[in-house]
Amino acid sequence: MRSSEGMPFSVVTGALWLDLVYTGGEGDRSCWEALHTPTDVAAWAHSSGVVSDPSAVRIDEADLRAAHRLRETLWDMANRLADGKLPTSDAVAHLNAVAQRADPVPQLVLRSGVLELDRGRNADGAQVLSAIARDAIALLSGPHADRVKRCAATDCALLFVDTSRPGARRWCAMSRCGNRDKARTRRRFEKG
Ligand SMILES: [Zn+2]
Repeated sequence: MRSSEGMPFSVVTGALWLDLVYTGGEGDRSCWEALHTPTDVAAWAHSSGVVSDPSAVRIDEADLRAAHRLRETLWDMANRLADGKLPTSDAVAHLNAVAQRADPVPQLVLRSGVLELDRGRNADGAQVLSAIARDAIALLSGPHADRVKRCAATDCALLFVDTSRPGARRWCAMSRCGNRDKARTRRRFEKG
């Protein structure tokens, strides 16, 4: 991702489903849009580890629209969780519906004397999205259900799942908001 000043930075979101949220969205988030075509969805699924070979999945325009729709549900859900609220019943129903399909199947492959994982060969878009919905369901039913947080910087809306043991993570990225906060504290100190 890039800041408004064009500086690249990366956020450890702590969850696959939250990674999808960071691929863009509606309104202000459309400037981040990374999923323009079905091929983009396949490439993202590969880079996120959902499938091993992006050319071996079948994703069409309807899947692209479904990915955008799931992303809006997850965005809304993540913001509500960060505010200490439950997800809406519509969001829960949507997640459950998307998770109905089996997620991409893992297979072992012996290649040149080495065992490799080949996940999601011939999977379709519904299976890819199911993996993401299932990841969200796993979070909401697990010990980190109350760990969806918004960055502590007042001018930053980025969300993450705090998977640290003490649960004390405050920043989207230390290289971005954490260091800005340190600089502000230092300036306050210097001014006395
Ligand atoms: Zn931040």
